[in-house]
Amino acid sequence: GEHSPASSDPVDTHCPYCSLQCGMALRPLPPGGGPGDGPGGRPGGVEVVERTAFPVNRGALCGKGRTAPAVLSSRVRLTEPLVRRPDTGRLEPATWEEALDRIAEGLESTGRAYGRDAVGVFGGGGLTNEKAYALGKFARVVLGTSQIDYNGRFCMSSAAAAHQRAFGLDRGLPFPLADVARTGCVVLVGSNLAETMPPALRYLTELKEAGGRLIVVDPRRTRTAEQADLHLAPRPGTDLALALGLLHLVVAEGRVDEEFVERRTSGWPETRAAAMAHWPELVERITGVPVPELRKAVTMFCDAESSMVLTARGPEQQSKGTDTVGAWINLCLATGRAGRPLSGYGCLTGQGNGQGGREHGQKADQLPGYRKLADPAARAHVAAVWGVEPDDLPGPGRSAYELLDALGRDVRALLLMGSNPLVSAPRAAHVESRLRSLDFLAVADVVLSETAALADVVLPVAQWAEETGTMTNLEGRVLLRRAALTPPPGVRTDLEVLSGLAARLGWEKGFPADAEEVFEELRRASAGGPADYSGITYRRIAEEDGVFWPCPESVERDDSEGAESLSPADSTPADSIPTDSAPTDSMNAGAHPHPGTPRLFLDRFATDDGRARFAPVSHRPAAEEPDAEYPVLLTTGRVLAQYQSGAQTRRVGELNEAAPGPYVQLHPLLAERLGVDEGAPIAVVSRRGRAVAPARISRDIRPDTVFMPFHWAGPGRANTVTNPALDPVSRMPEFKVCAVRLEPAGG
Ligand code: SF4
Repeated sequence: GEHSPASSDPVDTHCPYCSLQCGMALRPLPPGGGPGDGPGGRPGGVEVVERTAFPVNRGALCGKGRTAPAVLSSRVRLTEPLVRRPDTGRLEPATWEEALDRIAEGLESTGRAYGRDAVGVFGGGGLTNEKAYALGKFARVVLGTSQIDYNGRFCMSSAAAAHQRAFGLDRGLPFPLADVARTGCVVLVGSNLAETMPPALRYLTELKEAGGRLIVVDPRRTRTAEQADLHLAPRPGTDLALALGLLHLVVAEGRVDEEFVERRTSGWPETRAAAMAHWPELVERITGVPVPELRKAVTMFCDAESSMVLTARGPEQQSKGTDTVGAWINLCLATGRAGRPLSGYGCLTGQGNGQGGREHGQKADQLPGYRKLADPAARAHVAAVWGVEPDDLPGPGRSAYELLDALGRDVRALLLMGSNPLVSAPRAAHVESRLRSLDFLAVADVVLSETAALADVVLPVAQWAEETGTMTNLEGRVLLRRAALTPPPGVRTDLEVLSGLAARLGWEKGFPADAEEVFEELRRASAGGPADYSGITYRRIAEEDGVFWPCPESVERDDSEGAESLSPADSTPADSIPTDSAPTDSMNAGAHPHPGTPRLFLDRFATDDGRARFAPVSHRPAAEEPDAEYPVLLTTGRVLAQYQSGAQTRRVGELNEAAPGPYVQLHPLLAERLGVDEGAPIAVVSRRGRAVAPARISRDIRPDTVFMPFHWAGPGRANTVTNPALDPVSRMPEFKVCAVRLEPAGG
């Protein structure tokens, strides 16, 4: 049920930002008590209260989560729709009626003139499950377009593809995060979680306190790398070769778990042969990581009784991201470190609903329940839930970058929700020109983001604390974000927006504005699919503080519960999983509620034959390697005080003070060669454009590489420079490596 905003009891909910989805409670404040962002801030708001009961963060929050209420009461938040006036060319206030009419007309007339696929939809990995579901349904049913994708394509899609290929199922972590603290060795590849999700650092600290080892793979000595027992700093774009070199040593040192490989995997001979072609000395030459360090890593990884590899954006955001992740999965499989308690491969998803956002149908090739859009049985199931014919559902569309690249050409009108691609997409100046060339652009957002500023219609939508909905965190734990406030007058929820647009386009029914009603339909649509939510209800999530998918509607008690059984180590009350919860309303007699699935693959993998599949991958260079003209590598990433495109966090005073703008991190040797001092502006120039930001000179980065955080627009926009070369499987752009030259940018 909805919380009554009249009450001032703290409301249990979750952070608006990253995939850790930290638990927090919000206490509504009397008018005038909101944190705002200085004079003129809006009255009211909420204060954050610690919620220690939620097991993932046990009350801890990073600065982003702690200050999130400031965006609720920010004076720059949008509270009325804006419509671009033909006479002035400016965005000016309008009524909701007019704004929604304009959007319905803009989308419909484009479809009529150019065909349905000339209308595009772009979503976001921060949208709730209900919104992601409703947006996918809206695109395919109401607009009848195949052209929908979302910014999660830029986030973890390579890990998702590699997960599917190896295990037949993609859930970021196939085990609860708490298992990370109890394994013997963790290899963290391309994750700076000390800055991106600081409360998660606790699990690594506990790991080390219990005698476990931490290996961090990152071209930079980040705050996370500082915690490592062993830090490997490969040249950007070579972690695939690094993983192959480790696998080579595993074979050479006789550390292959032959019994596991024989019983639970397929494809080993080809993979073994590929690894044997990558001699340690060759791998040292490619990666820059000395052979003794490779040996040390293999010893740490294999000597531990259990071990894990966790990847994040580093290996994933490459034009060979799927194969790079596959190479790390190979290492787990060859050593028997998968499908066993406290061992395995996992992806640390980035965006708040990075996991759920990819399961419910806003992805170009997918239908709810993580079903494949090209699969006839999946189409039939979902079409029946939606009350349409399977043949009426369009086929798979373009991936995110390809969709943006087609704007103004094949795709002439766009509805965008929960994303700011003008900052977050690669080759951003080009994306900006594509957005500007659209016949019609509608954007729903909480502030006038850089992308919203280009729109023909801007809709002001509610924020996380003002609406109820579910999120699925990086562990596959489905969580309930509860409303603690009513939205300010003039603001509507994304679900209300879709409901209003659907009604205008002839769909009076099928697009409810109530989140729980949408979730009930999502349950049916997902039933029987890989990401089965049918046994999950708002009531259960509230009672159990999260339920892990897959969770079918019921299970016979005498079933083998092997796949769901908990490891002997799992006795901590904070994260024990109830298996005897009260039957839900919809239970059949004789059947029991499914407990949810904290741990996957313990008995079998989700492939047809139950075996995990090795991927026989080989090293290949980045799409763009340094040359005489562009001799330096650029890699991009995140800082502690900002989140993604900064649309929210750049509006929070405290965060802006901590991280006011972009910078170029470079080694003293490079700085000297260039003749720049600390703080002097440097231009980072690629074939796609230039970004200018102050130098930050540091020995924590390789001398052949510079780093820029990507949270800002304007002259320092890192993504102006990045390369949209796509991974052939996941369609992930190569954010993590491109060739640049550096120039002093005057003073
Ligand atoms: Fe929010 Fe992530 Fe920070 Fe937790 S770690 S408070 S979920 S941004």
